[in-house]
Amino acid sequence: MKALDFDLSKEIKFDFEQGITSFRDSRLLILDANAIGLLRQNMIEELGMERARAFFFKLGYQNAYSDFMQANINYQFADEFELLKVGPVIHTWEGKVKSAPVAFEFDRAKGEFRYQGLWKNSYEAEQHLSYNDISPEPTCWLSMGYASGWATGFFGKRVICIEQECMGMGHDACRTLIQLPELWGDAGEPYRQALKDLPY
Ligand SMILES: [Zn+2]
Repeated sequence: MKALDFDLSKEIKFDFEQGITSFRDSRLLILDANAIGLLRQNMIEELGMERARAFFFKLGYQNAYSDFMQANINYQFADEFELLKVGPVIHTWEGKVKSAPVAFEFDRAKGEFRYQGLWKNSYEAEQHLSYNDISPEPTCWLSMGYASGWATGFFGKRVICIEQECMGMGHDACRTLIQLPELWGDAGEPYRQALKDLPY
């Protein structure tokens, strides 16, 4: 299977009798983006930007790690490149962003990983800008967590995604880079800290 052949709309099961919606073994919730945006804003106001960012980054990471496990266990992709690229496909189907890879390279033996991506129509940047001014920093916390979690599941070693440009910063799209945590230096510290309790 090619990544772009993966159609999440055909894989989600709706069990009306039981009130359970699921993707394979993962139970799903459908939540309104405005409600999540309001929760996000409340967390910013109650906890501050840094703690709110850490919660959403970790949420996205766990969401993607679970999705990766379901995809890896239940589907056969043509090769490992397609398995990597189905991450952006599922990310897109879930409605968070329109995600596509730009370039990537990795070497498992050398422990090297680098992925550049492009996101359009980020719900999170939209929500950020509906409550706040243009941000000096990336705003797509949940999606950066998602990209980090998927790539980590794929690579088998923690990697971190940080946006280099973001619609929430006034750019026309969000441009991402995923690489090893140590390569981020100080810029990676809040994201490394957000995941410090997770064993994967
Ligand atoms: Zn963004």
